[in-house]
Amino acid sequence: MKTRSLRNLPSVDRVLTRLEPQTLPRPVVVDLVRQTLREARVAEKVPSENEIVEQARLAVAGHLARKIRPVINGTGVLIHTNLGRVPLAEPAAQAAAVAGFDYNNLEIDLESGGRGQRGAYVERHLAVACGAEAATVVNNCAAALVLSVRRWIRGERREALVSRGESIQIGGGFRIPEMLEASGAVLRDVGTTNKTTVADFSKAIGKRTALILRVHRSNFFMSGFVASPSTKELALLARKRRIPFVEDLGSGAMMNTEAHALQEHEPRPAELIADGAGTVCFSGDKLFGGPQAGIIAGRRSVIASIKKDPMFRAFRCDKLVLAALQETVDLHLRSVDTQTGSGALPIVQMLEASEASLRIRAERLAQSIGSAGGSLVIANASSQVGGGTMPRSSLRSIALQIRPDPWSLEAFAKRLRLGPTPVVGYISGRSFWIDLRTVFPRQDHALAEALRAAFQPDSAA
Ligand SMILES: *Cc1c(COP(=O)(O)O)cnc(C)c1O
Repeated sequence: MKTRSLRNLPSVDRVLTRLEPQTLPRPVVVDLVRQTLREARVAEKVPSENEIVEQARLAVAGHLARKIRPVINGTGVLIHTNLGRVPLAEPAAQAAAVAGFDYNNLEIDLESGGRGQRGAYVERHLAVACGAEAATVVNNCAAALVLSVRRWIRGERREALVSRGESIQIGGGFRIPEMLEASGAVLRDVGTTNKTTVADFSKAIGKRTALILRVHRSNFFMSGFVASPSTKELALLARKRRIPFVEDLGSGAMMNTEAHALQEHEPRPAELIADGAGTVCFSGDKLFGGPQAGIIAGRRSVIASIKKDPMFRAFRCDKLVLAALQETVDLHLRSVDTQTGSGALPIVQMLEASEASLRIRAERLAQSIGSAGGSLVIANASSQVGGGTMPRSSLRSIALQIRPDPWSLEAFAKRLRLGPTPVVGYISGRSFWIDLRTVFPRQDHALAEALRAAFQPDSAA
């Protein structure tokens, strides 16, 4: 207070009256103005009132830009964690909205009027889709893994046997050793970084062994002098030695990835169940194309006991997620019929989009945009699956390649990010790129508008 009177700064109210009417709730604007004034109080040079108002305006705009809103993804990365991973199919998004807007039968059995079981519908459909006896859903794959491991931790038996080459980190904050520790397990590395055999696992099994864990090496690959046992081999060993076997799949593709011109085969949950994996877990929002969720599929008794773990309650999904997930799994189950089946899933549409169709859209866009002082050409590009999935695979794609003169590449990228419909592309070489595979045709109009605006000379400058 003393420093403030010394500095003779404007009051909160004074700054507020000078800011334009806000879309933000007033208490938040007040909070942002207070913060601006706090900073002014300790700034080396005492700012003028105009400077303070300008700083407050920037603080409000910066904060508003953090509000979650639709973004056009021009990065060519299909599963983009920073952009919300994968958009939902329309019926899935609508189901979530409807479940949120009305009461629903989340935990009531409409036949008897008694207590119903949360997720009973989706669990059965997931089990069928995975070729498993039973399935359940939790918050994400990390939670699914923790629960699948915890199931087997009993007294002395705490060791999870993991191949050294699979003791991995995926994205931010997901490391297998730490996940195991959080599950109450002790990691027991098996084999070497590049080579692990069934015999290594066999030797490692002892009276402390709780389970064998196989982790899909999602976001990297090893080549050269490498070997690791297949699901089938490990499942066989696990059965012979009566050791539980869990496999963390990560992405969990429902589709045959090679059929989509991808160079790698992403294992499907049903394949691993058929190969003998007792329990598999995977994400709902990677190649599955649904909401954030972790799906666990496996033997009925195992799923039942996982659901009795008090931690299951801590990780359970809400009605919005369950509603979106049940539509998503039904689209997969109807995948033979591509009109109402998995063809309605954005992830499948993006995988299937032909270069020819992308080129037609690119030509239309290029025509309607022009390029003011810069240049805009249609170029070949390469899309990635992303989300820590299939690092070796890429899809030939078509992009708008932009030289945004007189804007610098960074300035142009920022203008696009801060427009009414934010567009995120990428900078490569001396160009700014927008890969059209990850832009939905319904967004083309908004993309053209955003590009036209970004090319405009700045009237304020
Ligand atoms: C992505 C991934 C996870 C984490 O999944 P979330 O749903 O983000 O928790 C776990 N394991 C593997 C192998 C993965 O690829």
